[in-house]
Amino acid sequence: MNTTKDVVVVGGGLAGLAAAAYLGRAGRSVALVEKAHAPGGRAATQESHGFSLNLGAHALYRGGAAHEVLRELGVRFTGSPPPTSGAFALDGGVLHTMPSGALSLLTTGLFGLAAKLEMSRVLGGLAAANPAPLASVPVSAWLRDTFRTPEVRRFMGMLVRLTTYCADERQSAGAALAQVQQALGHGVLYLDGGWKTLVDGLRGAATAAGVEIITGERAKQVALQGGAVSFVELASGARLHAGAVLIAASPRAAAALAPEVPALAAHAERAIPVHAACLDVALSRLPRPRFRVALGVDRPLYLSLHSDAARLAPPGGAVIHAVQYGPERAGRDAERELDDLLARAQPGYRDVLVERRFLPSLVVSNAVVTAEGGGYAARPGVRVPGLDGLLLAGDWVGPTGMLADASLGSARDAAAALLARRALDRAA
Ligand SMILES: Cc1cc2nc3c(=O)[nH]c(=O)nc-3n(C[C@H](O)[C@H](O)[C@H](O)COP(=O)(O)OP(=O)(O)OC[C@H]3O[C@@H](n4cnc5c(N)ncnc54)[C@H](O)[C@@H]3O)c2cc1C
Repeated sequence: MNTTKDVVVVGGGLAGLAAAAYLGRAGRSVALVEKAHAPGGRAATQESHGFSLNLGAHALYRGGAAHEVLRELGVRFTGSPPPTSGAFALDGGVLHTMPSGALSLLTTGLFGLAAKLEMSRVLGGLAAANPAPLASVPVSAWLRDTFRTPEVRRFMGMLVRLTTYCADERQSAGAALAQVQQALGHGVLYLDGGWKTLVDGLRGAATAAGVEIITGERAKQVALQGGAVSFVELASGARLHAGAVLIAASPRAAAALAPEVPALAAHAERAIPVHAACLDVALSRLPRPRFRVALGVDRPLYLSLHSDAARLAPPGGAVIHAVQYGPERAGRDAERELDDLLARAQPGYRDVLVERRFLPSLVVSNAVVTAEGGGYAARPGVRVPGLDGLLLAGDWVGPTGMLADASLGSARDAAAALLARRALDRAA
């Protein structure tokens, strides 16, 4: 199989599918290569016995690039915000009512009086706070220097973990604050049918735009000649010739594909991945239907009943996702800690278990947005300098947003950069 296309996209996750769809719609001939047997990457959803299990807890942030790109590409989805009632904060081994408004803030046992006063002030000022001056400040220093009471400090740390998925305190406080503001300001959605609906929608948009999707084939090398892209060689030996290649995979994968490009090796070297340990369960019924959410305040823990807000289970059944953020520095065995939390939330859950999946170390994001790098400013752009036909997209690329916002935002930017370049070539 030796073919010629305008563009080859490597990687069939959200970023690769979206970029391919934009390029196909603009009239370019595109092949997308995905090494797995189906596209989706980390947005895949496992379906069994009528349950839909995302790869760990997934929520779509509203008001960001992901939402915009999905709308532009006509991807249809439905879903609802997470439950707010039945939510608890776990601190010092005790479950407290989660403060979600003025009344619960007054009555919760999570805070003493001084912390209640400080918390109401902090929540009142959060939306208007300016993240820009905090770009080079680590989250650890921001929490220490900004919040007076230890309870509020810990609570804000929990909010940062919840919205960024990152427990690494080298993270830029500016980037973290912007993410907290987006999540609190616009909210998030749990999606009916899981994130597979996004993958299916993007794949449909790509194929409708004429993109050839090749699955079960690993791209081995991007061959360069005279500073330009020549072809992509697949592990099977086939060659896909193209004037441009868009790599929508991890920094390491990008560096391995074009080892002679020093910028790619440097990105791979610098990127600090964000990991999570995930316990995903499907239950035939809920032992305690009113216990919906638990968030660790002094521990990096999350538990949420996703099927309360989204259609993910057959009638009467339930899907719960539990997460330990940053298992490499959490200091406790993740599977045991998550299992204990689940048993506490839903006593006897093992008797109604349909599916249980423990994933010890998923890469939630390919790169922490670090304070040391000055926040988003340190991320590579979609263009690889000095190599006109080589572009990048993913959660580690581009100047804005985290998680799927970064993946889909950079996918759109990379496609636009390629189209602009082609327009210039044609005009010349
Ligand atoms: C546990 C967990 C929870 C998350 N929660 C959220 C959330 O709540 N909100 C949110 O916005 N985001 C969340 N995310 C992040 C979100 O899933 C990702 O940002 C998004 O799915 C990444 O898409 P991508 O296309 O950039 O990368 P990927 O999904 O990693 O896709 C890259 C693809 O490239 C393929 N590939 C790699 N190398 C090659 C090669 N050489 N040849 C061919 N193919 C190759 C891979 O197989 C993969 O399919 C979460 C992620 C995880 C793991």
